Amino acid sequence: MHVLSAASSGPSQMMTITIQDFSGSSIPTAGIRRFVVPLSQLQSTYGRLLRSGARILRVSNGLTSTAATPEPSPASSNGAPAPAQPARKAPAKAAHADVPVNLYKPKAPFVGTVISNDSLLKEGAIGRVNHVTMDLSGGDLRYVEGQSIGIIPDGLADNGKPHKIRLYSIASTRHGDNLAGNTVSLCVRQLQYEKDGELINGVCSTFLCDIAPGAPVKITGPVGKEMLLPADEEANVIMLATGTGIAPMRAYLRRMFDPGERARNPDYAFRGKAWLFMGVPTTPNLLYEEEFQSYLSAYPENFRYTKAISREQKNGEGGRMYIQHRVAEYADEIFNLINLDATHLYMCGLRGMEPGIDEAMAAAAAARGLDWKTLRPQLKKAGRWHVETY
Ligand SMILES: Cc1cc2nc3c(=O)[nH]c(=O)nc-3n(C[C@H](O)[C@H](O)[C@H](O)COP(=O)(O)OP(=O)(O)OC[C@H]3O[C@@H](n4cnc5c(N)ncnc54)[C@H](O)[C@@H]3O)c2cc1C
Repeated sequence: MHVLSAASSGPSQMMTITIQDFSGSSIPTAGIRRFVVPLSQLQSTYGRLLRSGARILRVSNGLTSTAATPEPSPASSNGAPAPAQPARKAPAKAAHADVPVNLYKPKAPFVGTVISNDSLLKEGAIGRVNHVTMDLSGGDLRYVEGQSIGIIPDGLADNGKPHKIRLYSIASTRHGDNLAGNTVSLCVRQLQYEKDGELINGVCSTFLCDIAPGAPVKITGPVGKEMLLPADEEANVIMLATGTGIAPMRAYLRRMFDPGERARNPDYAFRGKAWLFMGVPTTPNLLYEEEFQSYLSAYPENFRYTKAISREQKNGEGGRMYIQHRVAEYADEIFNLINLDATHLYMCGLRGMEPGIDEAMAAAAAARGLDWKTLRPQLKKAGRWHVETY
């Protein structure tokens, strides 16, 4: 364990120990917690936290800090902590080792109960998109923002066997919409298409859009570590969403800005920049609009919201305004942010959005003498480029 030099400090100087805590709670908080102690109690508190299973991230005196390694180093001869060493960055994958996955498998799913099922669309919208909330009480289905769950629709497939699972991004925070920690919410678009002149309804999306409060639902998971939010409260988070791709972003934004969430997360008070790019066909198709507007009012310095409404707005060439046109429009600011290590980019929605975004990023990179084909894998390797499309 590397900590600050305390040579010039008195025993009453206050020190801060920052830990990542996954234990002692029914919710996998994966939370960052801080303990402020006098220097004289640093060693004993540090030992106690280590024994409790917490991962110690850093010890600081409020002016600067160093990253921690799992093993404590011996104290110096006067009992003060050993001198500071350069910070070490934990690999992104190791940092997520304790995120819950596959607590419930398809052969033994958790059976939740629908609490509510409401349309997210306004009058005149295209299609059908619902916010479905399910009760998880009585089980052990825990999750964090950015994960997905599997749903097994009722009934049998054409082959006479039970339906296969379909994945849905979780739209609620780990505390659930009611903040009680026992619910999960999804944002589901009913799949509908025509085949040989016949209207076909997607099996699971129709099951979910039609399901009534009180009905049981077979749930698996959670799965996914691709879309997790950085624990860093000062991160910059750029979000590119189309349609139901807003689901994980809605969870991130609630975690960052919802007053109830902020009260539940004293150790995650977001202070970075969150920038949401949202693509929908029409204004009535905008999802969670009231929530986002309230965050804009309360956190104008931290939240930015850019919409691409394809059937109402025109791009620079007079065509429909898609999300990639907004990315191109704000390329300067986006690339200025990408230059900062604290910036993460998230893309979620239908797979069809990927080529357009790639093209816009490639053009913007090229205008700055950069090669997006090289830069994108670098960002991915650094755990800063997160994509979930379906
Ligand atoms: C990680 C992940 C997260 C996801 N998150 C969400 C989410 O948050 N919200 C959400 O709504 N969905 C989400 N999905 C998609 C979801 O899993 C389902 O795929 C979707 O709901 C359709 O399932 P279904 O059972 O209704 O359709 P199915 O009955 O399974 O029908 C789908 C099949 O229909 C066929 N088909 C589809 N469109 C056409 C067409 N136009 N013409 C001809 N054939 C066609 C294809 O063969 C396709 O495989 C996610 C998927 C993944 C992988």
